[in-house]
Amino acid sequence: MNKHRLDFECENLGNGIFRINEFDFVNAFLVVGDEKAALLDCGVGIGQLREFAETLTDKPIIVLVTHAHADHDGGAVWFKEIYIHPLDKRISEFDQTAAARIYFLHQHPYKRKTHKVRFSDAFQKEFTPVRHDLNEGDTFDLGGRVIETFFTPGHTAGHVTFRDSLTGALFTGDNVNPLVTLQFPGAVSLEEWRESAVRTLLLADGNPIYGGHGDGRIPAQVIEANIALADEILTQPNEEKGTVKKKTAGEKLPAVVYKTDKIHKK
Ligand SMILES: [Zn+2]
Ligand SMILES: [Zn+2]
Repeated sequence: MNKHRLDFECENLGNGIFRINEFDFVNAFLVVGDEKAALLDCGVGIGQLREFAETLTDKPIIVLVTHAHADHDGGAVWFKEIYIHPLDKRISEFDQTAAARIYFLHQHPYKRKTHKVRFSDAFQKEFTPVRHDLNEGDTFDLGGRVIETFFTPGHTAGHVTFRDSLTGALFTGDNVNPLVTLQFPGAVSLEEWRESAVRTLLLADGNPIYGGHGDGRIPAQVIEANIALADEILTQPNEEKGTVKKKTAGEKLPAVVYKTDKIHKK
């Protein structure tokens, strides 16, 4: 019997794209070309994601990471190498430690209980991966389709967005969720996030936008509404900007939480 968990939930999105959900914590996306496959983000690593991905494709798999947070690159422990933006590399080294992965699990007791996830799962590890630089303009030819990289700082300073040339689909990690999260250490300013969000909409050009959490679907309208909310915050008088601002514009509209005093300075 295999000692590693392989009971991921997987959704076939068509055109060789799979959404792999790791116990409700996070999504990773597998994009399969004629010669190679790309895994976009690699989960917390509670399950053995490499083995699972190999049940979906027999092509060699490369791992490209949207940003350094333990739910997106903690699972790099199952891979020999990953590609990540240089600005997120330092955090990424920590993300693959048991401490970072346990800390993440600790924050999600309900999901842990529902999916019978044990803290000890976070001690499992096969590799300390080599981290290659991933920069704006980098492309990965998978055969019949190319993954393009766009630098979109926001949720983290080194956050990138990927585009699949075959379908035009975007993979946006945690940068344009319904709840814009810029409060963690390492996030950039709301102004910079706004630029990336506007760029994301242009890049998507009406094609699907897939994100790291929930069912993975990010409607363009959510991003548009969040940009409008960001504009409201940014046009407030300066003295009010140092406080937490939470804006909800209606039941189904998103929220922006902005805490300028927590902006990480290097
Ligand atoms: Zn994140
Ligand atoms: Zn996340």
